[in-house]
Amino acid sequence: MASKEGILIVLSGPSGAGKGTICKSLLKEIDIQYSISATTRKPRPGEVDGREYFFLTKEKFENMIEENGFLEWARVYDNYYGTPRKFVEETLSAGKDCILEIDPQGAQKVRENKPDGVLIFIAPPSMQELENRITNRGTEDISEIKKRLSCAREEMLSMYNYDYVVINDQVEKAVEKIKAIIIAEKCKIQRSKIDNLCL
Ligand code: 5GP
Repeated sequence: MASKEGILIVLSGPSGAGKGTICKSLLKEIDIQYSISATTRKPRPGEVDGREYFFLTKEKFENMIEENGFLEWARVYDNYYGTPRKFVEETLSAGKDCILEIDPQGAQKVRENKPDGVLIFIAPPSMQELENRITNRGTEDISEIKKRLSCAREEMLSMYNYDYVVINDQVEKAVEKIKAIIIAEKCKIQRSKIDNLCL
């Protein structure tokens, strides 16, 4: 790995664990580039193309898959979601850190394609709390809620493939833990910018 490359941080975990909220808070506190994902799902009220997501047609998304335009992509709840490769690669090569907020299938693909990425699993405090959060946020209908809950049970098991787990019982505490993880990762010998030290 080039010693001056930025760090790729992957926040993942089941829907409703709070990774979106944590990511937003983190972005206000530290200097890290957020990678805007592409999706074929329809924008929700208030969502803007190029801000929350790049909203693409299925055809455009499939063309990007063909052209190897994604670092990872996955079908999540009947829609495609993917991380545009170019942005992430350019950010990291410029020495800047980059953060992805993606589902567990995507996180595993990042592990295969970019093994030095840091995978952080955001877990809910309990399955009951996860159910409450998904039900109460009001962005999905009943069938969608059921789908997300049944996936969540399976996704919890994928936790063991990650580097870290952060239980999201309080957003501020979770953010502090992630900041600590990033600092620790930067201090790893393999990542340290030690070329200039007279060793
Ligand atoms: P939502 O539709 O609620 O915005 O997102 C649904 C799920 O897709 C969430 O778990 C979210 O983290 C995930 N997701 C968002 N962007 C990406 C991406 O680029 N790749 C993958 N694999 N999952 C994503």
